[in-house]
Amino acid sequence: MEMERLHHVTAIVGHPQETYDFYTQVLGLHLIKKTVNFDDISTYHLYFADKYSEEGYTMTFFNWETDRCGRVGSGQVGHTAFKVGKGSLQNWKQQLENNDVEVKETERFNKPTLEFTDRHGLSLALVEDDNQKDAVISGFYGVEILSGRVEATRRHLVDQLGLTEIGESATHFYYEISGADKQVIAVYKSKVDRGFDGVGTVHHVAWQATDRDDLVDWQTTLFETGSQPTEVKDRNYFESIYYREPGFTIFEIATAGPGFQVDEDREALGKELKLPLQYEANREAIEANLTPIEGA
Ligand code: ZN
Repeated sequence: MEMERLHHVTAIVGHPQETYDFYTQVLGLHLIKKTVNFDDISTYHLYFADKYSEEGYTMTFFNWETDRCGRVGSGQVGHTAFKVGKGSLQNWKQQLENNDVEVKETERFNKPTLEFTDRHGLSLALVEDDNQKDAVISGFYGVEILSGRVEATRRHLVDQLGLTEIGESATHFYYEISGADKQVIAVYKSKVDRGFDGVGTVHHVAWQATDRDDLVDWQTTLFETGSQPTEVKDRNYFESIYYREPGFTIFEIATAGPGFQVDEDREALGKELKLPLQYEANREAIEANLTPIEGA
C-alpha cells in the first residue's frame, strides 16, 4: 500500500480574525468551511483552500484565543510548505514583505524555499513547483517532520507508507509521496527537544485515503505493524483515523470524500457556521461563544 498525497494539515493558532485576514489577504487562500473543533466545541475549526476546494488540499486551524504558546519540537511538523508557480518566488517575497512578514530564503525543501511565519508564529514555507504556471498557492509542496526517533520515522515512511527516499542535504532526508503531486516529506536529521501543543504549532498532518475501505485497510496494516490507530471517526467532511508515527508526530489518514459540499453549496462554501448534527441543538450557545469574523 502506498500513500498518494497529503489531505490536510491542522495547526493551533490564535485569534480567528488574524488567521482569516492572513490566509485570505496575504496568501490568497479562501475560507471554505467555518465550523467548530468536534472534540472542543468552544473553539473554531477553520478550513482554508482554493475557492471551491477542488485542488484537494486544505489548511485547517483550531483557534485558541489564549496566549498559551506551544513549542515547536520533536514529535511535530516543523514547516508546512505550499507550492507556488515557477518563477514566482521573488514576487511572493515582495508580497510577504509588503504585509510586514519577515522572510528568510533557505533551501529547507532541497530547493529555493521562502520561510516565514503567520501572525501566530506558525512556521510556513513556499516552494516553486516547476510544472505550475500560476503564481498562486495550489496545494501542499510538502511538510517537514521533526522526529523524536529519526531512523524509525524514516523506516515508517518507506516501509509502511510507501514513500521513496529521493536524497538528502546536510540537514534533512527527503522523501517523495507516490502520487501525481510528488509531494515531499523532509525529515530533519537532528533530534530536537520534544515539542508541545499550543498556539503556533501544527497539531497533526493528514494523509489521504481513497475511500472507507482503503481507510480500514490502512487501519489494519498499521495495527499489524505495531502502530495504534484510533477507531474510524466521522469528521462530517471525511472519515479518519489517527495514530502517532514512531517518531511521535500525530498522523491522520482521511478519506477523500464526502467533501466540503456535503452541507453547503459550492458558491456558499465557508459563509456560515456549519455544525454536525449532534451539535445543532446547541447552535445558539455555541455561536454566542465564538468571536465573529469580519469579512467571512
Ligand atoms: Zn485532521
